[in-house]
Amino acid sequence: MRYILGALMLVSCFFSFSQNIDVASQTIEDLCSREFAGRGYLDSGDRFAADYIAKKFSSFNLKKFTKNYQHPVSLSVNTIPKSDVLIDGKELIPGLDYLISPSANSISGDYLIFYISPKILNAPKLVSKVKKAIKRGYVPVVPVYDSKNGELEKKIQTLRLISKNKPIIFLKKQLIWSVSTHQSNSTEIWMIDSSFNRFSKQIHMNVVSKFIPTYTTSNVIGYVEGTIIPDSFIILCGHYDHLGRMGEAVFYGANDNASGIAMLLDLASYFSRNPQKYSIAFVAFGAEEAGLLGSLAYVKQPQIPLNQTKFVFNMDLMGSGHEGATIVNGKIYTEYYEKLNQINTKMKYLPSLKARGKAANSDHYFFSEAGVPSFFIYLMGDYKYYHVPDDNPTHLKLGHYYTQSYLLISDFIMSLN
Ligand SMILES: [Zn+2]
Repeated sequence: MRYILGALMLVSCFFSFSQNIDVASQTIEDLCSREFAGRGYLDSGDRFAADYIAKKFSSFNLKKFTKNYQHPVSLSVNTIPKSDVLIDGKELIPGLDYLISPSANSISGDYLIFYISPKILNAPKLVSKVKKAIKRGYVPVVPVYDSKNGELEKKIQTLRLISKNKPIIFLKKQLIWSVSTHQSNSTEIWMIDSSFNRFSKQIHMNVVSKFIPTYTTSNVIGYVEGTIIPDSFIILCGHYDHLGRMGEAVFYGANDNASGIAMLLDLASYFSRNPQKYSIAFVAFGAEEAGLLGSLAYVKQPQIPLNQTKFVFNMDLMGSGHEGATIVNGKIYTEYYEKLNQINTKMKYLPSLKARGKAANSDHYFFSEAGVPSFFIYLMGDYKYYHVPDDNPTHLKLGHYYTQSYLLISDFIMSLN
């Protein structure tokens, strides 16, 4: 009998774990599909994602504050629907060979290349040389520089100033994109050093950027009512937006933060079947990448009064974990951190936890600034794709530590009872 029971438990355990990973991987696949266009502000990518999450909330029978779980958030945003760059007739791959600065203006034309060698960069007549070159129809190409070098940084700023509304190219060792809420008058091309040949002669650029002064995206909010103290809430959250696309380059954001939404949905599914003493709200924030704008809008006009919000647990970058996890605000809310660390040590979920002080790096931030205890967890490991098109489901494989983090977070939430 015991053997049978043991075997049965093992089977069911294995089934629920493997099923968990399969469901989460599917969620990531879905959120990273081409249709969702990187969950940004072109092709209604953010709206597809918000509708997808609302549909999941509905399938878990979560309670809601609005008919479709969604709450509008408005922002200004610069988008880059089209970007073609050719050097000496050879087309460069957007997102891989180069990026357009997120706040870029539109630009179209052919330019001669003026490569500023390190020698020219250090020459006393740098400014007059570059000014002359720009006047003659050249585009300056600035070599990789160390931004920690203050003197060089000043020169770079001068070059930016003298290039005025003309384009300028910066060579870089690594490309990282972001979202801009404004449009500037200039266009910068950030090119990967290894894909630029300094003997190149001519560059063709056709960049179409479109500034949207008022774009309406949304936060998606559902909750499970508490069994004993329903008007006191714990919030589990993560952002669903990512960078969208730049021309043909789609930034899929598998780790950042389709992984966190997969975790949020897994937890929503679990707690919808296992309500707790307190109410638990599940919030998928929009516009995080645009400067935490979704969570800022929430904290300004909260759906759940902040003084009825007991704790906020924000999840962002949940795809690795071989090296444990970092808890932002762990050094601020030490009692909560000790509780979390105790659970982790006792149950051996993650290799280790590391506490950090406060940081304005994800959606927990405005909550703790408003006095609501909050944590931000991110997993650590050797996953190296950040704000690049390669942060996609092909590279992100969920494993053991996804399940372990799921167990850690759910145990911690239940311990708050
Ligand atoms: Zn993120």
